[in-house]
Amino acid sequence: MAFENLSNKLQEVFKQLRSKGVLTEADVKAAMREVKIALLEADVNFKIVKEFIKKVTERAVGTEVLQGLNPGQQVIKIVNEELIALMGSTQAQLTFSRKPPTVFMMVGLQGAGKTTTSGKLAGQLRKQGRSPLLVACDVYRPAAIKQLQVVGKNYNIPVFEMGTEVSPVEISKKALEYAAQQHHDVILIDTAGRLHINEELMQELQDIKTAVRPQEILLVVDAMTGQDAVTVAESFDGQLGVDGIILTKLDGDARGGAALSVRSVTNKPIKYIGMGEKMEDLEPFYPDRMASRILGMGDVLSLIDKVQANIDEQEALDMAKKMRANDFTLEDFLAQMQQIKKMGPLKDLLGMMPGIPGMGKLDLESALNGVDPQKEMARTEAIIQSMTKEERANPSILNGPRKKRIAAGCGRSIADVNRLIKQFEEMKKMMKQMNNMQKGKKGKFPFF
Ligand code: GDP
Repeated sequence: MAFENLSNKLQEVFKQLRSKGVLTEADVKAAMREVKIALLEADVNFKIVKEFIKKVTERAVGTEVLQGLNPGQQVIKIVNEELIALMGSTQAQLTFSRKPPTVFMMVGLQGAGKTTTSGKLAGQLRKQGRSPLLVACDVYRPAAIKQLQVVGKNYNIPVFEMGTEVSPVEISKKALEYAAQQHHDVILIDTAGRLHINEELMQELQDIKTAVRPQEILLVVDAMTGQDAVTVAESFDGQLGVDGIILTKLDGDARGGAALSVRSVTNKPIKYIGMGEKMEDLEPFYPDRMASRILGMGDVLSLIDKVQANIDEQEALDMAKKMRANDFTLEDFLAQMQQIKKMGPLKDLLGMMPGIPGMGKLDLESALNGVDPQKEMARTEAIIQSMTKEERANPSILNGPRKKRIAAGCGRSIADVNRLIKQFEEMKKMMKQMNNMQKGKKGKFPFF
């Protein structure tokens, strides 16, 4: 996960600061030296690290901090604020033309994630009630047009293309006419990339820009390339001018240097981050939430967004109702697990919870004690799926022969089936106690 090493290191430094009741200037400076190393190791731009440390140190060695209450906590607060400022302070949203269609021009090097990101963005815009059109302007690689068509098909978004014999400028102009006829209000132009920046590429992009006057030029860069991503962003912005940056593959980048440097170096906001292959994995970028994640304070707000994007509200309400009425069956349990699975790997979800990132990777692993939550869930699912509808609704009918049949059906042992039934009964008991507590009845709190 992104920032994993940085996050672990910073939390180690802060644990030591917090453990001291009184802080001296020397303590702060020593901590800042560690922070500096951690940031450099995370591949953050050197100049930015220097400025960052200077700012934090100046604020942190002030008498108000050192002589105030909880000086360690105060230093962390300053680091948090400066991290947020570094990443742009506020969330930068897309802007839309007053007179539709709004044209977004997607640019970037080959392999950065332009085509897939164009598709994800179009899919999200459609979910918000807009009518997007994808435009295939990479005329150099027939495979690129095909790829956009596949992406479009996946998300059910129409793709405008004119093959490889027409110039990208001509295609863009025709796409605008087509969009007007078909009442599309957003156009996403997937331009051609190159392996490296060159004059020819920049000229072509400039020509498209002049021809269609896009509302925004969105630069897609690959976070995994670290400081190269920042250099690429600087060049594109200098030569073409960009309005926003989309940082992809942050899920595969354990360092996170690009995310921390690119805004400061280019002065252009990161608008979205790519955290995986699915449509919902293209997330709006919130500097404050990202700082929270880095400092191990969790990112509950993003977790809630993820839940809302993946879980059907009515289903969740029905489920809560059943829990309250003590009507929760194994069938519901199964449905609940399937909903959770839609949100991605459980370990990533755990990483968004406050406190848990602070445990560090190793600690999380030792807390799980060799249990892979994903596999565990798949096993539980398989057991429930081996049961008949009647058994799922009423587990009390599960006698010896039935358990034997279920175990054989899912390739588990009878002990596994028994364990699941026991867990389920305990869960129900706990729900009942919680319901009683909410109703004001006396009930022992189940966790203690
Ligand atoms: P393009 O050449 O710029 O159009 O790049 P593509 O859209 O073809 O993407 C290149 C590869 O990166 C594809 O395999 C994508 O699935 C992958 N990719 C794009 N964004 C992300 C992301 O946020 N996370 C991960 N893990 N992979 C991504």
